[in-house]
Amino acid sequence: MAANRTFSIIKPDATRRNLTGAITAMLEEAGLRVVASKRIRMSREQAEGFYAVHKDRPFFADLVAFMISGPVVVQVLEGENAVKRNRDIMGATNPENADEGTIRKRFAESIEANSVHGSDSDENAAAEIAYFFKPEEIVG
Ligand code: UDP
Repeated sequence: MAANRTFSIIKPDATRRNLTGAITAMLEEAGLRVVASKRIRMSREQAEGFYAVHKDRPFFADLVAFMISGPVVVQVLEGENAVKRNRDIMGATNPENADEGTIRKRFAESIEANSVHGSDSDENAAAEIAYFFKPEEIVG
């Protein structure tokens, strides 16, 4: 199957604890190639737009506040079955339910401060990549 792409965020709880390298190493060891990466501070508008699908959920306001509480690293990852490969290495949303050997099992602090984001479909991956990156910023 042809290589494809997904979108990842290393969240503020992880950048705060200097885990950018450790998490990126786990992504690479899982067979994903980092073809774009930048450290940014999300604006409130950017975070609200990114998580708009959750805007009516009780955790939305806290989630937005968390995502703008410190720097994040946004990345485009490339590899065979990139979306599923990344979801597998991330682990379950709630670290209490995450499998051994996953990023969230190893590093997440809570269901909210769970260290990483990863797209959940090819369609969302394309939209999320376009939300943060210009095509020329992605070097495959
Ligand atoms: N989240 C939260 N409380 C919840 C569920 C989710 O704070 O009860 C946060 C958490 O940071 C999660 C993000 O909202 O990663 C998006 O939730 P989603 O269900 O899409 O989980 P994911 O795809 O990130 O595993």
